[in-house]
Amino acid sequence: MHCPFCKAEDTKVIDSRLVAEGDQIRRRRECTSCNERFTTFETAELVIPRVIKSDGRRQPFDESKLRHGMLHALQKRNVSIDRVDAALNHILHKLRATGEREVKSRLIGELVMAELKQLDSVAYVRFASVYRDFKDIDAFRAEIDSLNTANGIEPT
Ligand SMILES: [Zn+2]
Repeated sequence: MHCPFCKAEDTKVIDSRLVAEGDQIRRRRECTSCNERFTTFETAELVIPRVIKSDGRRQPFDESKLRHGMLHALQKRNVSIDRVDAALNHILHKLRATGEREVKSRLIGELVMAELKQLDSVAYVRFASVYRDFKDIDAFRAEIDSLNTANGIEPT
């Protein structure tokens, strides 16, 4: 960190403490050249990346749309809203953790499918059938069979 007074490159931290209920670090620094003191604040950047649609358009991430899509897939399924919210939080966490400023909408779709697969296989297939746009009934059937096999159910 350069000194804001003399622009020297070397400054040292003389005090460091958590502020804003631990969401921020406040550092007192001292310039080793001119001995001026100054303060810096450090916060984690937890932005959700913007979404790149398949046609290349960029959109702000829309959490309510994502939630709605998941609830739609889970309609009349026996999954509590707490579990849906937990799944949603996993997705948000993973998106933040990418550290990217923009992600492809495909990545979000894959994250949703991974969560739905854990929550409820019917919801997973509902979502996947819309999202992956299964080209034919055989591909759809193969996906369901692979799920049933994974769940110990014989293919029908
Ligand atoms: Zn200085």
